[in-house]
Amino acid sequence: MLEMPDARRVYVFQGEALLVPQAVPDGEIFQGLAPEIPPPAPPVEYYEVPGLNGAEPVPYYALGNGVPPPAGWRAVTIRNALPRMISPEDAAAGCTGRLLRAYHIFRWRRESAFCGSCGSPNGDAPQGPARRCPACGRMEFPRISPAIIVIVTNRKGQALLAHNRRFEGNIYSLIAGFNEAGETLEATVKREVREEVGVEVEGIRYAASQPWPFPNSLMVGFAARHAGGEPVPDGKEITDARWFDRHTLPNLPGLGSVARYLITRWLEGSL
Ligand SMILES: [Zn+2]
Repeated sequence: MLEMPDARRVYVFQGEALLVPQAVPDGEIFQGLAPEIPPPAPPVEYYEVPGLNGAEPVPYYALGNGVPPPAGWRAVTIRNALPRMISPEDAAAGCTGRLLRAYHIFRWRRESAFCGSCGSPNGDAPQGPARRCPACGRMEFPRISPAIIVIVTNRKGQALLAHNRRFEGNIYSLIAGFNEAGETLEATVKREVREEVGVEVEGIRYAASQPWPFPNSLMVGFAARHAGGEPVPDGKEITDARWFDRHTLPNLPGLGSVARYLITRWLEGSL
């Protein structure tokens, strides 16, 4: 279990990585750096992300892309390291929540440097994190893109798991996909399961969510019941899809993913 971070701790981001001095042990990298550790020079940005629910701001330094990590520092790819540090509950609080929020805002600020309406360099709105264009007044807020992930179960007590060609190794996970404009999340669940494996579902109910800022998703987890059709992989994204019972599970996604959390809750009988 990770300690709650010191509220003054600061992160150093570069591209998709968190930079930490070599001397910082693995178990402490996600807490950020004590403020007395000077950032590797030269940072291109310093920003204090406002805290949520009255929490202290989360400061970060950003280094320019392509600059090699300075001597004595190492780069930790946040997405790859995530399984080591979170459960969905932790993702919303403590140091994981701080880190994911700061990283999300870091990515968004980099991609909102110019006004999307008139193209002028964007400024910062006083109540951040928000951008305000000094030329046309357009406001811009951090982009959050919802995506669904769903555990579908059948009357035999089996769960539908699929192998996506993007997965490393022989891992099977849950059906997932992005919400489309104008679509409810429940409709996204039905559409994604139908498109990816040709199965119909019913009894859709919310289970859990997880911030996933790679670059800007919010994973919204659901459970649903099988209503018809047998799984047929779409052959594009999904190369295999089957019902698994709890005694013959395949390789599962890493601890800390919302997929694994939903599968674990199903195994415990709480979904
Ligand atoms: Zn503008």
